[in-house]
Amino acid sequence: MKILVINCGSSSLKYQLIDSDTEAVLAKGLCERIGIDGSNIAHQPAGGEKVKEMADMPDHTAAVKLVIEKLTDPKVGVIGSLSEIDAVGHRVVHGGESFSGSVLVDEEVIKGIEACSDLAPLHNPANLIGIRSCQAIMPGVPMAVVFDTAFHQTMPEKAYLYGLPYEYYQKYKIRRYGFHGTSHDFVSKRAAEILGKDRKDLRIIVCHLGNGASVSAVAYGKSVDTSMGLTPLEGLIMGTRSGDMDPAIVSFLAQKEGLDAAQVIDICNKKSGVLGLSGGASSDFRDLVDAAKDGNALAKNALEAYAYRVGKYIGAYTAAMNGVDVIAFTAGVGENNAEVRVLIGQYIGYLGTNIDPEKNKLRGEEVILSDEGAKVVTMVVPTNEELAIARETVRLLNQ
Ligand code: AMP
Repeated sequence: MKILVINCGSSSLKYQLIDSDTEAVLAKGLCERIGIDGSNIAHQPAGGEKVKEMADMPDHTAAVKLVIEKLTDPKVGVIGSLSEIDAVGHRVVHGGESFSGSVLVDEEVIKGIEACSDLAPLHNPANLIGIRSCQAIMPGVPMAVVFDTAFHQTMPEKAYLYGLPYEYYQKYKIRRYGFHGTSHDFVSKRAAEILGKDRKDLRIIVCHLGNGASVSAVAYGKSVDTSMGLTPLEGLIMGTRSGDMDPAIVSFLAQKEGLDAAQVIDICNKKSGVLGLSGGASSDFRDLVDAAKDGNALAKNALEAYAYRVGKYIGAYTAAMNGVDVIAFTAGVGENNAEVRVLIGQYIGYLGTNIDPEKNKLRGEEVILSDEGAKVVTMVVPTNEELAIARETVRLLNQ
């Protein structure tokens, strides 16, 4: 089957066309600045050059139309017509407590996603626009939604409740939801497969370290804790996000700087993390590593603080699961950044594991970093959220 995977943001749309039989990516691309001046598309057929061009995209429906045009284009296309697309799989950020797994789209599901919009006001409405646009252009084509939060719905109450008056959970559903669930699920499954074991027999800590970053504790096949919370701001220090901090900082900083709470949260989301800690040097870990090598002390400190936070979470989740068998690194930084993995390695030795400097030189590949016979296996497992969405879509269609 040919599955179109769509990841819709407020002004962007990422896509991949995947052949689910071979799991090959037939084409992929990105529409940017939808509804804004300067909208453009970058499209790449498998084995071909990436073609980038300016294109008028006043809304997401226009973007979906353009994606279909590219996919069926005689030169850069990979299918003859729209009818070759068997199904569409959409990434949806927040499924609240209503969705503990992927589902096929119908009007009830759309209402359910709408109901979760106040928990993810930037993301869910954009995801819904993507679904509606695809429905308009591909009527009758089955669609599935895969939620970032769903995998973490197995967390026990003790892990997801905040120490707030219980009525706020009851009234507003304020709790830990966690994100990157598709990745934590995919990577923990794959880690077990690589080791020739059943995930149900393992306690796995997945460190999804990208621009956004989160850690999860996957005990015997189920997520039992994760570092992101009600929103993706909690937990690790990230590219531009602060992660954990004393909530009193919000009112303190608001008063000192003459801001309101929303403005402070905006700073916590966009100007903090390693970008903020490094004095604005960069949110990109490649730049930070280079800057640290060139003697930039703030960049070095930012990397140290980042790694220390990851190390603390690994310790916490080892306690949460009463032990750990596997630590898996994934996403942009986790897969590629050997220097950051070395820094994190400072905090895992006591568990009976290590990061071998030679094996650590590999990038973006499945590799076991720890020595043979180590008590805990440390490994790199590249994530593939699009493939996971395509697989889920096929699974739902075959049910
Ligand atoms: P993601 O959000 O998963 O795309 O991850 C983005 C982060 O991954 C950026 O901070 C990049 O610096 C980092 N990254 C991506 N590719 C590489 C690479 N080849 N070497 C080092 N870091 C990388």
